[in-house]
Formats: sequence, C-alpha cells, structure tokens
Amino acid sequence: MSTEPRVVEVFDTTLRDGLQVEGVSASVEDKLRIAEQLDWLGVNYIEGGWPGANPKDIEFFARAATELNLSTSMLVAFGSTRRPRGKVDEDDTLRNLIEANTAAVCIVAKSSAYHVTEALQTSLDEGAAMIADSVKYLRDAGRMVLVDMEHFFDGYQADQEFSLRALEAAVVNGATHVVLCDTNGGSLPPEVGAITAAVVAHVGSDVTVGIHCHDDTGCAVANSMAAVAAGAGHVQGTLNGLGERTGNANLTTIIPNLQLKLGHRCLPDDRLVRLTSVSHHVAELLNRAVNPQAPYVGSGAFAHKAGLHASAIARKKDAYEHIDPEAVGNGTRFVVSEMAGRATITMKAAELGLDIDGPAVNTVIDDLKRLEHEGYHFEAADASLELLMRKATGWQQEFFNVESMRVITDETNGADFGTEATVKVWVGDERHVHTAEGNGPVNAIDRALRLALTPSFPALDRVHLTDFKVRILDGAGATGAVTRVLLDATDGERDWTTIGVSTNIIEASWRALEESIVYGLLHADS
Ligand SMILES: [Zn+2]
Repeated sequence: MSTEPRVVEVFDTTLRDGLQVEGVSASVEDKLRIAEQLDWLGVNYIEGGWPGANPKDIEFFARAATELNLSTSMLVAFGSTRRPRGKVDEDDTLRNLIEANTAAVCIVAKSSAYHVTEALQTSLDEGAAMIADSVKYLRDAGRMVLVDMEHFFDGYQADQEFSLRALEAAVVNGATHVVLCDTNGGSLPPEVGAITAAVVAHVGSDVTVGIHCHDDTGCAVANSMAAVAAGAGHVQGTLNGLGERTGNANLTTIIPNLQLKLGHRCLPDDRLVRLTSVSHHVAELLNRAVNPQAPYVGSGAFAHKAGLHASAIARKKDAYEHIDPEAVGNGTRFVVSEMAGRATITMKAAELGLDIDGPAVNTVIDDLKRLEHEGYHFEAADASLELLMRKATGWQQEFFNVESMRVITDETNGADFGTEATVKVWVGDERHVHTAEGNGPVNAIDRALRLALTPSFPALDRVHLTDFKVRILDGAGATGAVTRVLLDATDGERDWTTIGVSTNIIEASWRALEESIVYGLLHADS
C-alpha cells in the first residue's frame, strides 16, 4: 500500500475575498507585505485582487510584477466571465485580467440556473456560452484558468442539469480547476460532501475540483473538510477566516486539520511551524487582532488555567493538548491568577525563561493576591505578570527613570478638547523633558514618553499601541470605584498586554503604558 500523502492545494484569497470584511482596508503596500507572508508560509496560490474592479488592484499587480519575488506561491488575478451577449475581445473585465499579466487567472462563473435567468436576465444557453467563451479566450491568451462556480451547491440542488452544464463548459475549454462555491454560506457538511463526490465522479481526473466556502452556518471549515474527504484536491480560504459577513473558510484551521489530523500534504516540508507567526503578522498588517480562541493559532489555543490541569500537563505534556503546539508555531501557556498555586507559578516562570526560587515564588503569590484584590487581573496581562515575577527576584528596570509626568486637557474654541502631556525622564545621567499633544491623555503621554526615550532606544520606533480598554470596576468595597486599563502593544512580531489599576484613570493608564514600554525594551532584541 502506498503511504504517499495526498496533496491538497491551498488557494489563499485573503487579498481578494478576505478584504471584503467590514472595517478592514489594506494599502497596496500592505497587500505586497501580506503576499510575501503567504509565500513564506508556502500556499500554492495567492489571489491578489480584482484588477477590473478597482485601481488599487491594478496598481497591486503592476507592482507585484516587479517588486514581489515569490519563491513558492503562484500569483492569481481574479475576474469574471464576459458579460451577457457581449464579445470576449471587447470585454473590459477580461482585458484587465489579461493586462494583470499573471500566469494564472481565476474567474467567477454563474453556475446556478436561477442566477442566470434572474440576476443576469439571460438564457441558460447564453449562461453556458459566457463560461465557455471566457475560459477559451483566457486559455488562448496563455493563461492557466481556474473557475469559481458561484452558488454551485444551491444551484445544483435546484437545477442539477444546468450546474453540471456550467461545469462542463469550463472543463472542455481547458480550465485546470473547477471550484465549487458555497457563495451564500448556507450549506452543511453532508450536502457539500455528497455534491462534491458527485462532481468528482462526473468530471473525472482531467480537472482538479476545488472548494470555496463561507462561514454563515459556522461550518465553513467543516464543509471544506467534507469536500476534501469527497475528493476535492484544492481548498480556497483566507487567513484567520477574514471575509464578508461571517467570514471565509479559515485556512489557519483547515491547513493543520488536513496536515496534522489527516496526513494530507498542504504546505511544503517544515512550513507548518510558520502558521502562527503568519496569522499574527497578517492580522497586524490589517489591524485586526487574531481571536484569542482561534484554533491552533490563538493566544489561548494552548493556555491552561486550572491548577490541577497545569500540574498534570507539566508532568505529561500531551495529557491536555490535542497536538504539540510547536507543530503550528504556537506554544503552551500557563494562565496565572490569584488562584495559582506554586506549581503554576513555577511553570509560568519556566515558560518565561525566568529562574525563580522558593522565597521568590512566595513573593509572587503574595503580590498576585494583593494586586488582584485591588482590581488587577493578570490573566489578561502577561507582560505585566512577567515584570511582576522579575521584580520578585529583585530585578528592576534600568532603562529609564521617571521624574514626573503631567497631563493637561482643556477645551478651546468651545468645541475641541486639546490634551498635552509633559514628561521628565532620566536615561542614565541625561535628563529629557518633552511635551506632546495627543487626541486624548493616553495618546499624549505615549507621544511625550516616546519623544523622550526614542533617541536612546531606537527599537521603540517599532513598538506601537494596538488597543486600549478601560473598565470601571464595581466600587462596592471601601476603596470606591476603581478603573482598570489594559493596553495592547506590538513590535510587529510579539504582542503583549499590560495592566494598570487606580482610582484615577490617568494613573491607571500611565502604569500600563510605562510597563508596556519597559516590556518592549526588555524584549527589543530577543
Ligand atoms: Zn467567496
């Protein structure tokens, strides 16, 4: 029996379908950087955009041709079939597609009879001819052609004959791939599996059958897996499941599922360990954080909180983890709170590479109990926890010393609130005094502190704040209402969170900000 792994191609559409998500936009520069990440990860195809639809995508393909040096992936331009009753050699979409000058193109084709007659208002004969003519035209222009069969599953259930006819129009004219799309995302795994199996049997081995799912039933990953089980050899999706509505099929889940669980081959050797890094890097470029609970790549995917659990895992690593986190470039993390016992603290210290002895462990436990009583919550602030653990061993940050900090907020012209911060800090025996304006106190303090520190610590240029959360804690105790501030920061490779708690929101913010910068400096070159 052959033990060769089955190859399943990965087609990434983060730069096309993924960018349809609300609240995300990417510059051409961002798109080039994301394409480099995808190539480094090793996907087979990178769909770069729709050169007919917007000028940014035309610019992307022009710059990609000279600036991108892809070593693994093939760049694909996306478009559609010719318009109804139009001519292929007079069609703007097809012309733009050819001018994008990629070796491969992917076109969307209406494969549901309902959409041909209702959305296009044309006949089924014309619907099939649009696909046939367009594929042939692009093949004659020397392009490899993949065809996204839009609304395939819905169409197949309503009018199987036309959906198969659409498929054949693509295949006989030289498409290398027919990709079955669950465009509305409403299908479930059993029907996706059954229809994919029927299509694979129908088209034979001349063409690769692909799958393209959306997550409207929460089943995009399961549907993609069902299609692969039924014989699909090509999976389309996006990093982190980005995409309009509920998102596209999440490749950061599908790839490890196929590779680690089923033994299929999706990425080149040894590339799977890059998955977590690429997922976070792309999230960063798009300013959209990775869900901490995301399978495989989330910061909490291998986090353990309960004491019993944590001490068991220290003895037997596979007892509570379904895979070795390092296989996808993630890691085991112990979540520490005031409930933590000595074992958890010791393991956390080991995870952070700190050497903490008996008395220091007691100090950490005492500090945690006291601070969590005041309103701190270290589970959510790993960076502050690390600093607290370091301090328990007698460590003190020596990067800078703050002499004073002042914030002024005033209303000018009866409308705008202006905020100005002044910080006085010492770096060694040099005193730096800087004032900066900001769109709020945290922003102003952050800017002033950076002005003061960046000349001595250029690495700070790469550190920036990504999120700021404020919560007012219930003031039932004698202390009154307390504000808890959580600050997220990144240097592009590492993400961290710090915490500050005070009855004064500015003080809470300042504590979190100062620790954020100290943590950034501490890890600047590691
Ligand atoms: Zn789609």
